[in-house]
Amino acid sequence: MAKKIIITIDGWSSCGKSTLAKRLAKELGYIYVDSGAMYRAITLYFLRNNIDIEDKKEVKQALKSISLEFVFNPNSQHSEMYLNGENIEYVIRDLIIAEKVSDVAAIKEVREFAVAQQQKMGDKKGIVMDGRDIGTVVFPKAELKIFMTADNAVRVERRFKELFQKNPNVTIEEVKNNLEMRDYIDSNREVSPLKKAKDALELDNTNLTEEQQFKKAMEWVRARKS
Ligand code: C5P
Repeated sequence: MAKKIIITIDGWSSCGKSTLAKRLAKELGYIYVDSGAMYRAITLYFLRNNIDIEDKKEVKQALKSISLEFVFNPNSQHSEMYLNGENIEYVIRDLIIAEKVSDVAAIKEVREFAVAQQQKMGDKKGIVMDGRDIGTVVFPKAELKIFMTADNAVRVERRFKELFQKNPNVTIEEVKNNLEMRDYIDSNREVSPLKKAKDALELDNTNLTEEQQFKKAMEWVRARKS
């Protein structure tokens, strides 16, 4: 049987991490895990239940009531995020969640809760996981680590197009502000800040098509698997 590896993809918001990760996973027959969906799901739970994120006790208690699960949807051919048995894949993509998620993801207890589950998912390797701290904290020994970047304007445009399809009232300024705010909080927080792992390979996709990114990443995969 071919050697299975762990592939981590970290980087700034809206760099196309999940697009590349999904394609790699499909090509290799690996599991794809969107770690950001887990932080978004926790944020949704906190919002719905008015959890005061400044109150450690309340946060810890709330985490005990959260069960996260990825369930494969044969129609979309993707794994979707479930929170306590409810499919929340669609709602967690909303800007309301994006506005709060970085504050929630900066909480130590929240990260411990999510990281323990993420590490379990990688037990048997054969996994592609994208996020912010996957190559640095979740799988520091991963065989292939990719760090994605792209120009800000390109990222804003991409995310705007995506959100506009769902909500035509969204403005480009809102999207730009949200990306900048998340990148700032994600890269400046105390626990597991977003940064490039020393041994990560950088992929700047400002001027690359999806096909070109995929080809480049597959070259790296082949080199690591042989
Ligand atoms: O990847 P996505 O944009 O959906 O992630 C949403 C948010 O979740 C990020 O802005 C970040 O605050 C948090 N996150 C994180 N660590 C990860 C993945 C996501 O802190 N591994």
